[in-house]
Amino acid sequence: MTCIPDESEFSALTARLRELANPDAVDGWPTEHLRILWQAGAARWVIPREFGGDGIEAGTLLWRYRELARASLLTAFIFSQRNAACQRIESSANRHIAKRLLPDLASGHIQATVGISHLTTSRQHWQVPTVTATLDGTDYLLNGVVPWATGAGSADLMVTGGTLSDGRQLLAAVPVKSPAVVVRPAIAMLGLSASCTGEVELHDVRVPASDVLHGPVERVMAAGGGGAGSLSTSAIAIGTAQGTLDRFAEEAKRRPELNQYLKPLQQEADVLAQSLAAAALAMAGPSQEDRVSPETLRQRANSLVIRAAQAWLAATRGAGYVSGHPAERAVRDSLFFLVWSCPQAVLDASLKELSCGLW
Ligand SMILES: Cc1cc2nc3c(=O)[nH]c(=O)nc-3n(C[C@H](O)[C@H](O)[C@H](O)COP(=O)(O)OP(=O)(O)OC[C@H]3O[C@@H](n4cnc5c(N)ncnc54)[C@H](O)[C@@H]3O)c2cc1C
Repeated sequence: MTCIPDESEFSALTARLRELANPDAVDGWPTEHLRILWQAGAARWVIPREFGGDGIEAGTLLWRYRELARASLLTAFIFSQRNAACQRIESSANRHIAKRLLPDLASGHIQATVGISHLTTSRQHWQVPTVTATLDGTDYLLNGVVPWATGAGSADLMVTGGTLSDGRQLLAAVPVKSPAVVVRPAIAMLGLSASCTGEVELHDVRVPASDVLHGPVERVMAAGGGGAGSLSTSAIAIGTAQGTLDRFAEEAKRRPELNQYLKPLQQEADVLAQSLAAAALAMAGPSQEDRVSPETLRQRANSLVIRAAQAWLAATRGAGYVSGHPAERAVRDSLFFLVWSCPQAVLDASLKELSCGLW
């Protein structure tokens, strides 16, 4: 039995997502969007076949992230955080945890998220780690505040990590519905508030050494790929830009003089989508010197998604600036990519582009 939706089933999924309104506030967790995603079998995509999943190829996953984001950034983003948790479990050498958790994740019986940014991009300038790990017999105790976790209130487990006093770090899948874990209220943000993202407190969360997923090791997130600024984040940025340009194109049908601005942006999006596909191929095969690096791709995707939204807003004029117009929403949502999962090089490139001006 094949569980992978064919192209027409996948198109039907994205068409349904496009029809649904995307909530915009902290009380708007997109239950219906996620329900139709699971109904289409998406819970299985990143899970290997041996654990009841589909084990789809990296290139297919990136293509789907791009198309999902084109239909609904909110859905694609939440899904990517869940998948990041599954991938950290799957890439662990600890096979007993993989056997315990992955089948239930593949069937959709349990939900997961990640709270790992404090090990990569968040609070890196702090003198003390935001989450500490201490040894207690053969167990580790995690204490502190995970600064960012999307949908933790709806998750059964969160892949997160802490830092030992010697600087080594470890990752574990922590049960969220435990008295030792407190999910703080979701934060209202410039965009994506309905992703229900916020802080999570850890109070003596006990992780038996036999349950550790990765580490203890220095820079635990450097192992296993898929970290900050990964190709998945670019796929979502490019797809979001394409979704914006699809709607900009509707405006240009009525006002053909806009095509001179729309067309170059569409061409840029096409080129980036091709670069993404080539980067995915290169990941699977021998590395090619001339391929675009993940960081360069993310820089270009960030630039495009922000300019596409602002071009559409400028074209829609004052009407587009009114709260509730899809162009103002697109501008707010596009700015998410300036701050989400940006390694320093991507951040520097954004600041450089923004500081240059027209002269
Ligand atoms: C909508 C949304 C959803 C997210 N979901 C998740 C998720 O599910 N899981 C996850 O792991 N992460 C998630 N993230 C986190 C994200 O990937 C980044 O890690 C995060 O946006 C980095 O921002 P920060 O404020 O934590 O960065 P920080 O670098 O901690 O900056 C915080 C503040 O510190 C100050 N500062 C920064 N650097 C310095 C310095 N060198 N010296 C002095 N002061 C300094 C600045 O004033 C800055 O405003 C999410 C982020 C967003 C916006």
